[in-house]
Amino acid sequence: MSSRAASCPSCGGEVLFRAGSSVVTVCPQCRSAVSRKGANLEALGVVAELVPTSSPFRIGMTAKPKAQGLKPFRIVGRLQLSTGEGTWDEWHVSFEDGRYGWLAEAQGTFWVTRPLPPPTNPPPPEFHQIAPGQRLSFGGYGEFTVTDRRQALYASAEGDLPFAATPGAVFMYADLSGADGSVGTLDYGDDPGVDAFFVGRPVALAELGVEGLEGWSERKVAARASSLNCPACGGGLQLKDPANTVRVACTYCGSVLATPQDGASSAKFEVLARLQKLPFKPLLPLGGEGTLRGRPYAILGAVLKACTVEGVHYYWREYLLKETKTEAYHWLVESNGHWTLVEPAAAGEVSTAPRLAVWRGTRYKHFQSTTARVEAVLGEFYWEVKKGESTDVSDYVAPPRILSEERYANEVTWSEGSYVPKEELETGFGLGAPLPAPEGVGSNQPWPHAETARGFLRTVALFAGIAAFLFVFFNIKADRKVVYQKRHDLSVAATDPTIAPDAFSEALTVVTEPFEVPHTGNVEARIDAPTDNSWVYVGAVLLEEATGQAYGFGLQSDYYHGVDGGERWSEGSRSRTVYVGRVPAGRYVLRLEPELERGKAPPYYDIRLRSGVPRFAHLMAVLVLLLLGPVALAISKARFEGRRWAESDYGGGSGSDDDE
Ligand SMILES: [Zn+2]
Ligand SMILES: [Zn+2]
Repeated sequence: MSSRAASCPSCGGEVLFRAGSSVVTVCPQCRSAVSRKGANLEALGVVAELVPTSSPFRIGMTAKPKAQGLKPFRIVGRLQLSTGEGTWDEWHVSFEDGRYGWLAEAQGTFWVTRPLPPPTNPPPPEFHQIAPGQRLSFGGYGEFTVTDRRQALYASAEGDLPFAATPGAVFMYADLSGADGSVGTLDYGDDPGVDAFFVGRPVALAELGVEGLEGWSERKVAARASSLNCPACGGGLQLKDPANTVRVACTYCGSVLATPQDGASSAKFEVLARLQKLPFKPLLPLGGEGTLRGRPYAILGAVLKACTVEGVHYYWREYLLKETKTEAYHWLVESNGHWTLVEPAAAGEVSTAPRLAVWRGTRYKHFQSTTARVEAVLGEFYWEVKKGESTDVSDYVAPPRILSEERYANEVTWSEGSYVPKEELETGFGLGAPLPAPEGVGSNQPWPHAETARGFLRTVALFAGIAAFLFVFFNIKADRKVVYQKRHDLSVAATDPTIAPDAFSEALTVVTEPFEVPHTGNVEARIDAPTDNSWVYVGAVLLEEATGQAYGFGLQSDYYHGVDGGERWSEGSRSRTVYVGRVPAGRYVLRLEPELERGKAPPYYDIRLRSGVPRFAHLMAVLVLLLLGPVALAISKARFEGRRWAESDYGGGSGSDDDE
């Protein structure tokens, strides 16, 4: 540690350089930024008063991080930056090993970044070439997505800084999001080339291990205590997030209130726009609290948004939520009564292809791209939300999930959400009245019968399994008793010249001796004949002696073969089997009436009857019947998807042609 005391060149008071990385220190007596170059001290200018912020840190705090790879550090300086839309702190930290880094906070998330040699192969683009959404590959450092390209004013400072710059200077920088969840910054300073490159990771406040930190508890006490009366209508307003709120739209009169920009008294709100009545009616109680998906939330504000497609205006509402445990900001988006809970997603973790986006292994299909406008606001907001402000939005869906990209002028953000049935909100936020029923199909609404279908398909699979088991079981158990078997001679009769050609069948017809069919069930009948480029057809009738009940069937044997163009061929079959269904047990005779071609018939045919033979076709019929249900479900799902996509960029006009 090279902490070193010296005399301020401006006022002569004592200044202290707290760390080896300290290039500048702000004189606590006269607020001069004093730089050291070797033994020479130089006053670079006077820094402005600090703007009060909600940062939980102070100079002098030490940290023993529990997060992996982070060494113990000391907070030695505070840089206050401003973009005109807000002021924030970045804390200069000095690590045990003498190196330095920056500790920053945004929307409840913390980062510790450390300087690395700027990438050289390839070198980063110059400031004017860099664009939000751009994907940069930095060799060994990996892939990064540009999320933000900005200029910020060096507004104020306290303690020590690791660089020498004139207070009031404008810094250019680009924020990066890494493919592995890391964060990075390209610092351009005040010229187009990169001056410094910082890389780090998001760290939870608890993981930072900052000692003497009152942190959340202190900020929460402030939150509970904070209330004000609307300067426009006098209504009493309770702020849920006073430490971060910079805009309030009065929930009684709709007037928009703002904290003054100079920050002199951040508690006081002034009327920015006076309204006489509420611009819209939120469906969720602003300021209300509840639990959703196991997390405690406060409902801070609501934004009415709209887009215009082919002259038609579409409206939806976005509710700003604060997760009260971690202070993270989430959203509930409501469109046509369909609700989605949305959280920020790291841009670097999203990769896109035409009509596709991939985030953490899930593939989302492009649904629509549109320009969203802020139409009206109510409640409290941590940024300077403006009516009329517009963003380009692209939605990608993998129901019930949705992935969205929003582009502003210099910024790109991604968010990821999942569909929330309205009943979950009614219970979670203890709503007195039910929310309106959803209309149509939501862009990321899951098919409502998915659960039923899963149960149904399980049942179908069970029945199919039982049917297959029973078939195998009966197949093994079946006795397959041969009840009739005999060879019938054709040679004599077929060649008898005294029989007229049209009287063959009659002459060859036989009626067998009676035989027993022992069990009611299928009878398998089989023909086998030595046909050789010839055929025989046997018309058969199974006749029950007692009742005269008849069961007719036909059996054919035909076999043809030869050589054609050097190729051997054959067709037909010498033996065939048919089944006669539901034959009652009893005594039967068989009437056999053969048909054949004179002189070309086989010498004989064999007939065999077996009873008690299970039929595979019956199993197939059962399985086909079982499939009817799943097919109907598949059709229902396809129709649902058709209605979903009719509302997308790929819907092709009106949705009426999807109701067929
Ligand atoms: Zn001084
Ligand atoms: Zn009011």
